[in-house]
Amino acid sequence: MNYTTETIIKTIPVDRLGEFRDVEKFLTYCRECPNFGTRHSCPPHDIDDEKFLEKYTHAHFILTRIIYDDETILLSKGDKEKQNEILYATREKVLREVEDQKLTKELYSGGVSVSSSSCSLCKTCAKTENKPCRHPDKMRYAIDSFGFDITKIMTELFGIGLSWPTDTIPEYQCLVGMFLDDDDNFFLD
Ligand code: SF4
Repeated sequence: MNYTTETIIKTIPVDRLGEFRDVEKFLTYCRECPNFGTRHSCPPHDIDDEKFLEKYTHAHFILTRIIYDDETILLSKGDKEKQNEILYATREKVLREVEDQKLTKELYSGGVSVSSSSCSLCKTCAKTENKPCRHPDKMRYAIDSFGFDITKIMTELFGIGLSWPTDTIPEYQCLVGMFLDDDDNFFLD
């Protein structure tokens, strides 16, 4: 399977984050998810969410688009299992690459990464045993666990909609993460 990726970054001041959050609404969804209370990256957090977000002046939303070529799209035609396999495998690979880049950025920017996904570094999260995270150097809180509206971010900030054909994988899938720091300029190496 073949794909390319593109990364787009949009920066806003932290005091505008409320425009893209609906904590009540999305926490209700989180409560229905098996990750609720069973992963350190997911709610309820062991931190004060508002203090965490307000510690910095700027929020950089990072959208990574995974774009599939025609051959890969065709390969998935009419095969639900294949579609899930392609989407999952590419998502996990690109997710790790982007999250590693953001962790490297932390080392010299003084900022903090917010992941585009819940943490799946361990087979069973230590939270299920009421133990501390085994990899705090790598685990970062999931963006949706702060009540962010990912669809709104994609459409209003990035101007990108969702497309889900029924018989094949879509032309692209997107990961949306965030990085917080005190700089109005942002780039990933
Ligand atoms: S690194 Fe392991 S223990 Fe820590 S949040 Fe992720 S899955 Fe849980």
